[in-house]
Parts: sequence; structure tokens; C-alpha cells
Amino acid sequence: GARCRVVLELAEDFAPHLLRTLRRLDRSAPVEPVRPALTVVGSINIDLTAACERLPAPGETVGGATLHRQPGGKGANQAVAAARLAGRSRMVGAVGDDPDGDAVLRSMAVAGVDTTGIGRVPAPTGTALIAVDRHGENQIVVCAGANAEVSVDHVTFAPEDVVLCQLEIELDAVRETARRTPGYFALNAAPALPLPADLVDRCDLIIVNETEYARIPELADARLVAVTYGAEGSALYEHGRKVASAPGHPVDVVSTVGAGDAFCAALVLALTSGHDHGTALRAANAVGAHAVGDPSSQPALLPLAHYLPAPG
Ligand code: ADP
Repeated sequence: GARCRVVLELAEDFAPHLLRTLRRLDRSAPVEPVRPALTVVGSINIDLTAACERLPAPGETVGGATLHRQPGGKGANQAVAAARLAGRSRMVGAVGDDPDGDAVLRSMAVAGVDTTGIGRVPAPTGTALIAVDRHGENQIVVCAGANAEVSVDHVTFAPEDVVLCQLEIELDAVRETARRTPGYFALNAAPALPLPADLVDRCDLIIVNETEYARIPELADARLVAVTYGAEGSALYEHGRKVASAPGHPVDVVSTVGAGDAFCAALVLALTSGHDHGTALRAANAVGAHAVGDPSSQPALLPLAHYLPAPG
């Protein structure tokens, strides 16, 4: 009725995913599918972090640590960042049929991620065991669990879908996603692996940090590669030739976990919404810096426009 329409108008301004739900409830309004700004195919984890004085040597036990439990995984971090930057995103992945699976699905939905493409499989939800010392130095063990079961066999990718993958799911699932994506396909090639030539050729954009760039020789031939340099910012290379760069934004470092993921989501959104290379890099660096200043690996980002350089 009329009251519902007022709510719909309000929702239009700030939460397109909420709008879609409200339209379904209001039967008098036509259901228009809202396209996600970004579809992320990748990993979803629970991060179990032990904050300790110093990291244990092999065979050693270190006591006195504090435990933090939070949602993570490169795929989920990127999907949540995209939802916060662009109002909507879609996640394709897998979690276990366990309480951790319930928790990560809930936290992604609350952030504005369409979770209907996340399968529940008979394996534990992916888990990262992280130890961090007082200098921020860390050791991480990842148990892929449900992430090893991600399949895109039943997923449709429309020509207007912008798709972003990482390498925390099986390489075959990434290759299959690339094959089935008719539109823009971006790959965050992390953690570093040797990449098959057909995958490199298919990527409209590959994003890596400087260590990964050095470890994956195939990237020298790629069409467009973004390399991140931590506090120094980032650059774009076409077939190994630098075509743009942007300095990092000065910020007090709180936690670098998830900064690369926020950078990836922002860069893909900025480039696919028509911004030039330099502008897109500057915006992505501003988003990365915001993430570094936030303790969460899924930081409370603002809409992308906030990070774009002022016109003129
Ligand atoms: P990763 O975390 O994947 O290794 P980087 O450390 O290169 O990636 O960080 C990704 C991006 O996050 C950088 O390109 C930059 O925009 C931002 N960033 C990272 N660390 C800092 C920092 N200390 N100060 C400002 N920005 C940073």
C-alpha cells in the first residue's frame, strides 16, 4: 500500500538489496531484478586469531594469548567491501552445514551481499588459524574445508556481470568461472600460483601484490595487471609496461588484514564504472588506506564516490 511505497522510496537511496526484498513483499509493485555491481566467486572463512606476545617456534607452546573470531576469506572480504562501496554485490562460494556457516552467511547478508549463490556442503566451513604477535607479525594456517567444494556448474553469469575471483578455491573452479563469464573478468592472483596461459589470456584485469608479481612470471605478458606496493600505493602494467601509478595515502596502521581485498573490490568497481587508470588507482589506494586504519578484515567502508578525487 501507500506506506510500503514510502518505505520503498527511502530504501532506493541507500540499500538496493533491501529494496528488492521490500518489492517482493509489496505485491502491487513490479519486481525488477537489481543487478549486483560485482559478483565475487571465492573463499569464505572464519578467522580464528590468537593475539600473542611472540609467535611460537616449531614444537613450542606460547600461552597468554587472546582469541578473536571474525568472518574472513579473500572472497568474502571482497564481496563485503563491494557491497559497502557499491550498495550491492553477489557472492558465489560454499560454507559448511555448521554454526560457522550460519554465522558467516548472516554477517555477509547484513553487509548487503546477495548470498543465494553460496552452497552448503558436507564439509567444515573454511577456517584460518592466525597467530599475531605484538609487532603485527603473523603466521597463518588455512583449512580450506568447504572452499575446496566450490562449483559454478549451476551459476549463470550475465553479460553485464562483473566477476572477481581469487586463488583460495580450486584452480579448476576459477578456470570454469573465467570460461563461463561473458563479460568483465578480474582475478586477484593470491595466494601466488603458476597460472595457466588460457586463464591469463582471459583476464581483463589481474591484481597482485609486489611479492606475487615477482612469483608469477606469466604476469609479464598479461593484458592489464595492477600491482600493490603497501604504503607506497599501486601501479598498472599493460603487457609488463607501466601505464599508471598512484601514491599510497598516509594512514596510521591498525591492521593490514583485508586491505588488499578492499583495494581489489574498489579498483574493479572504479575501472568498470568508467574511471581512467590513474583515478581508479587513486580511489583504490584511498580505500586500501581506510582498510589499514580499521581493525576488521571486513572494514566499514563508505560508498565509492567518497574515495574518488574531487572533480576539477
Ligand atoms: P597485500 O595486503 O595484499 O599484501 P598491500 O600490502 O600491497 O597488499 O596493500 C594493498 C593496498 O592497501 C596498497 O596498494 C595500498 O593502497 C593500501 N595499503 C596497504 N598498506 C598501507 C599502508 N601502510 N599505508 C597506506 N596504504 C596502505
